[in-house]
Amino acid sequence: MRVIRPAALAARPLLLALFLAALGLCLCAGLGSGSALAASAPDAAKASGQAKSAKSAKADTSTTSAKTPKDGQVGKAGKEAKPAKLTPVTDVQIWSGKDYSRIAVVLAGEVQHHWQLLPPEASKDGLRRLYVDLDDTRIKPGVPGRFDVRGDVARKVRLAPYKPGVTRLVVEVENLKNQQVFVLENPYRIIVDVQGQSAKARAAEDKADKDKAASGKSAEPQAQPKGKGKTQAAPEAAAQEAAPAETAPLLATPGRKKMARQLVEQLGLTVRRVMVDAGHGGKDPGAHGAGGLVEKDVNLRIARLLGEKLEKMGFEVLYTRTQDKFVSLEGRTAMANARKADLFVSVHCNAHGDPGSSGLETYSLNLASTPDEVRVAARENSVDPRRISDMQKILDELMHASKLTESRDFARAAHASALNQAKRGGSARDRGVHEAPFYVLLGAKMPAILVEVGYITNPAEAAHLRNEKYLDGLAQGLAEGVRAYKQKIERFGG
Ligand SMILES: [Zn+2]
Repeated sequence: MRVIRPAALAARPLLLALFLAALGLCLCAGLGSGSALAASAPDAAKASGQAKSAKSAKADTSTTSAKTPKDGQVGKAGKEAKPAKLTPVTDVQIWSGKDYSRIAVVLAGEVQHHWQLLPPEASKDGLRRLYVDLDDTRIKPGVPGRFDVRGDVARKVRLAPYKPGVTRLVVEVENLKNQQVFVLENPYRIIVDVQGQSAKARAAEDKADKDKAASGKSAEPQAQPKGKGKTQAAPEAAAQEAAPAETAPLLATPGRKKMARQLVEQLGLTVRRVMVDAGHGGKDPGAHGAGGLVEKDVNLRIARLLGEKLEKMGFEVLYTRTQDKFVSLEGRTAMANARKADLFVSVHCNAHGDPGSSGLETYSLNLASTPDEVRVAARENSVDPRRISDMQKILDELMHASKLTESRDFARAAHASALNQAKRGGSARDRGVHEAPFYVLLGAKMPAILVEVGYITNPAEAAHLRNEKYLDGLAQGLAEGVRAYKQKIERFGG
């Protein structure tokens, strides 16, 4: 995974602006707009989908976004009457890995945006361009305008004034499979996710096409790899060969078993790499607990213990942070996607004004249905609980791309074993498995959960959360949950 730094040529804003203006002139006006969301669409033909989401987003803004220009920032509400005050773009952050990039444009306040994915024929270099126009904005001096991403999907990213008061973000992409553009708040940021088709998948498709073409003359035999020599095409060939095993009973021969295992891996039904996410950090302490206990410290301690235990079990472990440092919520998911983690576990402590509240609860991504779920999501997202119900409509569309069912299964497995261990430590009321719209889980390409290990605001529970032995047990329980989930999905492979 690479966190992208600005390109050296960032010092040519005028040329760039001219280029972008020229580019824009050849193209029709943006279709999608909305202060809150544009949706995912697999190709340009679905650009009308943006208009649809724009509508729902507009309905949304009428009740929420437009009503509160904050701290002198004027959103669209003020623009008819007087010249709009321009909201600064304060930062651009990019994470990129194989087949995936995430771009976050951070703003000093709420703005309207419009985006469009241009059809391939609009460019002659094989690249497609996705642009996002930000109304009534300006680029804060010092914010770089050009990034060489050189990823498998996103190639280049540029940010420049497009016309007076409008800033345009252009993302050059290739091998694009799908894209999502959405908004997170506090700070207000527009997130662009682009996912590509992996080289492996492309090769498999090409091969399938070739096989199809060849199959007119010679039927099955060529699908049977001869000899034991390994070639690059071998995994695909093996997968193709193994595919019928899904419907036929598996014979217990070593060869069959191996093929089945390969199939499971091909389908991504295995767990090797786990991203462990210690919630909060650095300038974001999380919740403050009884006796001065701070959530970010407890989360980090558990995350490290969890990582150690997972490594002992043979997993490859990645961390979003291993120190007391700030990592944005969208950055955490982006790291997991860019590094192609198979599972994502976010560790948190709960908090409540009532010191009597206690217990362990585990979440996966979905709409919240109870006030408690809304409360927890609002706290972890750093937004007002009133914003959660507005978010729900918006997130609904984004969640189709997430592994909701798998995440729920994973949450159940992790919850059961974590609870079991926590009970041995003498505490842990079972608060159950829940769903809520967490920013940190949004856009994750793998089963992803958030565990609230206990209430840091409950004096008795806070005492447990200071106790190394208790934390060790919790981490052991979570690790066992990961292993149980892995075993469950791999059982498919026989
Ligand atoms: Zn938290």
